Amino acid sequence: MSEPKTIKDQFGRVHNYLRISLTERCNLRCTYCMPEEGIQLSEKSEVLTHEEIIYLAKEFVGLGVNKIRLTGGEPLVKKNIEKIIRELTALPIQLGITTNGILLDKYIDLLKECGVKDLNISLDTLDKDKFIEMTRRDYFDRVMSNIYRCVLEGFNVKINAVLIKGQNDNEIADFIEFTKTNKVAFRFIEFMPFDGNQWDNSKVVSLAEIIKTVEGSFGSDSIIKLEDKQNDTTKSYRIKGYEGSFGVISTVTNPFCDSCNRIRLTANGRIKNCLFSATETNLLNPLRKGEDIAPHIVKAVYPKKKSRGGMSSDEDFFDKEKNTKNRAMISIGG
Ligand code: SAM
Ligand code: SF4
Repeated sequence: MSEPKTIKDQFGRVHNYLRISLTERCNLRCTYCMPEEGIQLSEKSEVLTHEEIIYLAKEFVGLGVNKIRLTGGEPLVKKNIEKIIRELTALPIQLGITTNGILLDKYIDLLKECGVKDLNISLDTLDKDKFIEMTRRDYFDRVMSNIYRCVLEGFNVKINAVLIKGQNDNEIADFIEFTKTNKVAFRFIEFMPFDGNQWDNSKVVSLAEIIKTVEGSFGSDSIIKLEDKQNDTTKSYRIKGYEGSFGVISTVTNPFCDSCNRIRLTANGRIKNCLFSATETNLLNPLRKGEDIAPHIVKAVYPKKKSRGGMSSDEDFFDKEKNTKNRAMISIGG
């Protein structure tokens, strides 16, 4: 019997998790994600259509991918999102969505009908004015009401907050207090460098600092370390007696590249084999020429660098010349 097909890199890491960015467009303008001057959007004709997305997803599934997450830009603003969700959930995969939450109320019934349970919702502050400052848009009440609704409806809700020193790091204890009565996993993401996002190492709130703050607020005896799964990017904890949990995604100070199983497909049909890779592989052209796509996918992932797109040392990663030779996050898909 022949071996099942897998996508492996040069270090033997098996890639079974695909993140598809559906669009470069968004209804928010988060300062850490979207450069102030905006981004040059891909030509409409260069963006994957709904049919192409489904075709490519099937190619990835044929190579062993069993988990897909839709992201963006904001995935819920994509034309034909309903068809995309319906057709993807017919594949043998676990489907999740990362969203800013603004449009979730419109899609709750569809998500329930299709059996999509995993929702990652971004929320960087519990303060309405700060939300407007950080996202440059006034949607706080809508996002909060959608978060409460999704929790009530029984979705697995994870809330993602990018912590930026001097902006929202004073809310760490408030975020965790939110998990007292709300069954959500609150995840603090270390601020990462991308093109045009004003990143500076001094603005990163590290895993160590976060834990120190939590210990200061809740006492170290109250913090329970939860078990992390093999490919988890999050180090998870719970405060004794709290309904929800919290965690830290420490890409900057404690990367988890050794067990990385992720591939990214951008809205304009490029494979990024790492979030930080400066190079990309064009799948759109071979797809439109009718070529066999599977060999292109395998070839794109094989040379994946060991860690952080080749910026393995902190010296390289903290070097602004090197770490912003990448797209803006909004056009990669986080
Ligand atoms: N619009 C959706 C949302 O905001 O959830 C999906 C796309 S967004 C690019 C995906 C995730 O990337 C979000 O959780 C966002 O907070 C995170 N993100 C964006 N820029 C980031 C940065 N510079 N550092 C760390 N996380 C970032
Ligand atoms: Fe839009 Fe998400 Fe980026 Fe914010 S983080 S600008 S919501 S894509």
